[in-house]
Amino acid sequence: MSFTLAIVGRPNVGKSTLFNRLVGKRLALVDDQPGVTRDLREGEARLGDLRFTVIDTAGLEEATDESLQGRMRRLTERAVEMADACLFIVDARSGLLPADEVFADILRRKNAHVILAANKAEGKAADAGYFEAFALGLGEPIRMSGEHGEGMGDLMLALDPIAKEF
Ligand code: GDP
Ligand code: MG
Repeated sequence: MSFTLAIVGRPNVGKSTLFNRLVGKRLALVDDQPGVTRDLREGEARLGDLRFTVIDTAGLEEATDESLQGRMRRLTERAVEMADACLFIVDARSGLLPADEVFADILRRKNAHVILAANKAEGKAADAGYFEAFALGLGEPIRMSGEHGEGMGDLMLALDPIAKEF
């Protein structure tokens, strides 16, 4: 058996970069420009010995009639329902923003199994943002850099009990 992991978090925290690293194929577009990625993307992830399905919540960057908050909520709730666990990513470089709290609330309300990750955490510039992430009350954040491949061992350790459960 395998499990499904949804990568959630506000735009630009590095979800698609991590998705691409886990899936190893360029299934999710990564771009600084708005309007590039769409909705939910699914791929088969490999991380050490672990094999699982990973969902990237995209589409948040697109301008539509629906408000960004509305889209964020709808897509995140859908991803949470599809997944066995969620990897909630915050940006250790920017520190916590009000939008991060919106996601934390959705995850709490949905009673989702949450793994918290402070991303873009390569280098000392990310120290303050990393420690700030503890304030979300979602446990000890994994310190990682999806772009540089740091923290993948800790991510594996966090996913291991989930893999054993499913
Ligand atoms: P998404 O909107 O959450 O899917 O974020 P993306 O994966 O598209 O990344 C947004 C921006 O952050 C891009 O410019 C990435 O190159 C950059 N980025 C992603 N991961 C990291 C990281 O680990 N460290 C740093 N410094 N930048 C990153
Ligand atoms: Mg993306």
